[in-house]
Amino acid sequence: MIPAAFEYTRARSLADALKAAGTRGTKVIAGGQSLVPLLRFRLAQPSVVVDIGHLPQLQGIKRAKQGTVIGAATTYRDLLDSKLLHNTHPIIAETTAGIGDRQVRNRGTIGGGLAHADPASDMPAVVLALDAVLTLQSRRGKRSVPARKFFKGPFATAMKKDELLTEILLPFLPQGAGTAYESFEQAASGYALVGVAAVVAVSGGAVTHAAVGITGLADTPFFAASAAKLIGRTPNKEILRAAAAAAVEGVSANEDIHASAEYRLHLARVAVRKALTTAAGRAG
Ligand SMILES: Cc1cc2nc3c(=O)[nH]c(=O)nc-3n(C[C@H](O)[C@H](O)[C@H](O)COP(=O)(O)OP(=O)(O)OC[C@H]3O[C@@H](n4cnc5c(N)ncnc54)[C@H](O)[C@@H]3O)c2cc1C
Repeated sequence: MIPAAFEYTRARSLADALKAAGTRGTKVIAGGQSLVPLLRFRLAQPSVVVDIGHLPQLQGIKRAKQGTVIGAATTYRDLLDSKLLHNTHPIIAETTAGIGDRQVRNRGTIGGGLAHADPASDMPAVVLALDAVLTLQSRRGKRSVPARKFFKGPFATAMKKDELLTEILLPFLPQGAGTAYESFEQAASGYALVGVAAVVAVSGGAVTHAAVGITGLADTPFFAASAAKLIGRTPNKEILRAAAAAAVEGVSANEDIHASAEYRLHLARVAVRKALTTAAGRAG
């Protein structure tokens, strides 16, 4: 379909972008990989679209005191190319390589993907497992929101109408931690039927840290708190299998043309077990 008519402008500064975020009938666009399809289906009909994708204040990957900071409008391509991220958080490249196709990765941004909060997108699982902190900014000021409090439902987040996501802080991994991302993808788009990010640290043969984020399974990506019960245990086959079952227990799974709820739950148990096993194998 052809989108309804709208005016297109480019923000000249972050102040411009924040003004746009707070204006009724205006939508910001970064890479356009989710917004353009919405415009074409007329599921979104803003009267003004303001481009924020090129703003230098929203781009780049840098080392900070507490971890690695990624500007919200940093493209997936830039994440893949970042030596810093390869060193501090290799799970980012591991996950990003499976997002969409080359065109999507060249244009799409990490912040656009998180703000859009598609329950089948990959990166939410990763920011949940890493305990990332998101900076939300409006003309009223800035605030920090843990990723674990950011996703509120399908396409719904903790962002207020006048806020932009400006930065994502990935705290340094615990000493000796291994990470892994495992997903079962919808073949045409690459979106996750189920995607699981795991962080596991092991010392003296016992788990000292375990965190799991799950996407695609339920209507909201979620942090599986039960993984923390692995702490103090030996990460052997049986224990990791039991941890995988516990991580999805009681979850009301999505059902759609791509997979039944029962099948998604099965995939989730397999993906959690594989992600934990790989992360534990990389730990140390
Ligand atoms: C063919 C195809 C395949 C795909 N496959 C996958 C896949 O395998 N896995 C996956 O995870 N994703 C996939 N995607 C989705 C893609 O990752 C997202 O579309 C992309 O990350 C969104 O970022 P963007 O910069 O393009 O956002 P845009 O489309 O520009 O914006 C998306 C939404 O976020 C808002 N927004 C953008 N930036 C900000 C900001 N900084 N602050 C606040 N709001 C903001 C916009 O107003 C809009 O509502 C696919 C998309 C396509 C088209």
